[in-house]
Amino acid sequence: MKDTTPPPTTTHYDVIIAGAGPVGLFLACELALAHCSVLILEKQQELSSPIKRFPFGIRGLSTPSVEALYRRNLLDELEVPKRLKDPHKIFVKGPKRQVGHFAGIPFYESDIDTTQWGHRVAGSTDTHLMAEMEELETVFTRRALSLGVTMVRGAAISGLSQSADAVTVQAGSSSYTGRWLVGCDGSRSVVRKAARFEFAGTEPAFTGYSAKVTIADPEQLLPGRNLTPGGMYLQSQPGYLNMLEFDGGAAHQGDQPLTLEQVQAVLRRVSGTDVTLTELHMATTWTDRARQATHYRNGRILLAGDAAHIHSPLGGQGLNLGLGDAMNLGWKLAATLQGRAPEGLLDSYEAERYPLGAQVLDWSRAQVAIMRPTPEARALNAIIRDLMQTRDGATYMAGRVWGIHTHYDLGAGHPLVGRSVPNFSFADSTTIGERLRPGKALLLDVAGSDSLATWAAGYGGQIDYITGGIQDAVAISAVLIRPDGIVAWATDGAVDLNELQQAADRWLVKRA
Ligand SMILES: Cc1cc2nc3c(=O)[nH]c(=O)nc-3n(C[C@H](O)[C@H](O)[C@H](O)COP(=O)(O)OP(=O)(O)OC[C@H]3O[C@@H](n4cnc5c(N)ncnc54)[C@H](O)[C@@H]3O)c2cc1C
Repeated sequence: MKDTTPPPTTTHYDVIIAGAGPVGLFLACELALAHCSVLILEKQQELSSPIKRFPFGIRGLSTPSVEALYRRNLLDELEVPKRLKDPHKIFVKGPKRQVGHFAGIPFYESDIDTTQWGHRVAGSTDTHLMAEMEELETVFTRRALSLGVTMVRGAAISGLSQSADAVTVQAGSSSYTGRWLVGCDGSRSVVRKAARFEFAGTEPAFTGYSAKVTIADPEQLLPGRNLTPGGMYLQSQPGYLNMLEFDGGAAHQGDQPLTLEQVQAVLRRVSGTDVTLTELHMATTWTDRARQATHYRNGRILLAGDAAHIHSPLGGQGLNLGLGDAMNLGWKLAATLQGRAPEGLLDSYEAERYPLGAQVLDWSRAQVAIMRPTPEARALNAIIRDLMQTRDGATYMAGRVWGIHTHYDLGAGHPLVGRSVPNFSFADSTTIGERLRPGKALLLDVAGSDSLATWAAGYGGQIDYITGGIQDAVAISAVLIRPDGIVAWATDGAVDLNELQQAADRWLVKRA
């Protein structure tokens, strides 16, 4: 898909976003929804690429990502999640329905005790879904353009400078100025390097390969995921290979194309066979290098997505982490731009998102540790496998992989504070998630009271007041919900207007 935006008529924007990957595009949608002017500069001329399509372009969406898409009315636009609703049938065979893995060790739906996830109500969205990168980017691009975002493809950012009130970026022979710049330009982010963000972490243990090949003698390969003395290999579909070789990441090619001979040699080493490949259709490498920007903001420049954190794709969390960054940052940056942000709101982006990023990096490191071809790792692997076959073990793994327990530490208060609001439904069959589609804060007043309606009306349209009995058996009387769907304040008793006011002051309204 080519850029359909006419050339920009202005070079001044509220926000310039580097990179039209899923994170940059979703962030652009969030900012434009909040009426910011946004320019996306994207290096690639074309959106479409075989590596972004089935099967290599398939990504697992976690609960927070599914909720975010639902809350912006984007979920229904995606066809691939509907088609791959049961990936079990396509990727994994076996008597029990596998719904995820840790270091390749499967966990099964029938072992998970969802009653432990008390805050999930009957109308909750799916805990996880399969999506395709190309479709996600296509849908996000369509939404961004419809909201007035300007997009320039074939514009590789090469340099930048910032002053007290603006950032200027260089792309080819053009320069563009914005009040803010967000680097969503992926793992090798030029923005991160040019703005001198520190990127701290650990070096890789392996090179990973994804390749589409023709195999002369496929019977030499074992089915499923195989940990071997050389590494790991998996043939997910005939000819579609994923491999790991513990070489310290030495063979990672960057942009260099791989040859048939290289891929065959790796497959022979990791499988311990003399399997023969006759054709190489596509191949790419990756590693488990795990690094994270020590800060997500430097003056008027912010980072999100892979530009802010990289780790191995094991367990599939990078996209989810990035979409979470975008959902968290969009409304905060918009409020800052529009002069209505309470003190410290923008800095809460790093305070909330950095710890989650650090957890994901450790999650990926833990998987690498038990996949190593050493006796110690094999022993540990066997113990984890045993634990994952218990009900609590499977429930813990699913909760972590799907991000069920994701929450921010927003301090003391009702147990829902800092969590994603449960998707309460109302008598007219609408849900709280649908009410979040305009991207505004919500005050849900279950019983309906004049005092709360009047209080909300005092915020000049910044807080949408809704009232109505919820159909779920949850003891709640009022909830203040941030535009990203996170509960800022809640009560199951009488409303204390002072508490409510404090929450609004903290998240939503600048005090004079
Ligand atoms: C094999 C594999 C499997 C994975 N599986 C999963 C999974 O199941 N679940 C999951 O959550 N994650 C998964 N991931 C990770 C996920 O794909 C990434 O975390 C996600 O794509 C990051 O999105 P992003 O928008 O931050 O960066 P990217 O997708 O890398 O997008 C960055 C964009 O910036 C552009 N760009 C780069 N430099 C410049 C520049 N100088 N100027 C302008 N534009 C620039 C690029 O062209 C690109 O379009 C997987 C990754 C791999 C490699």
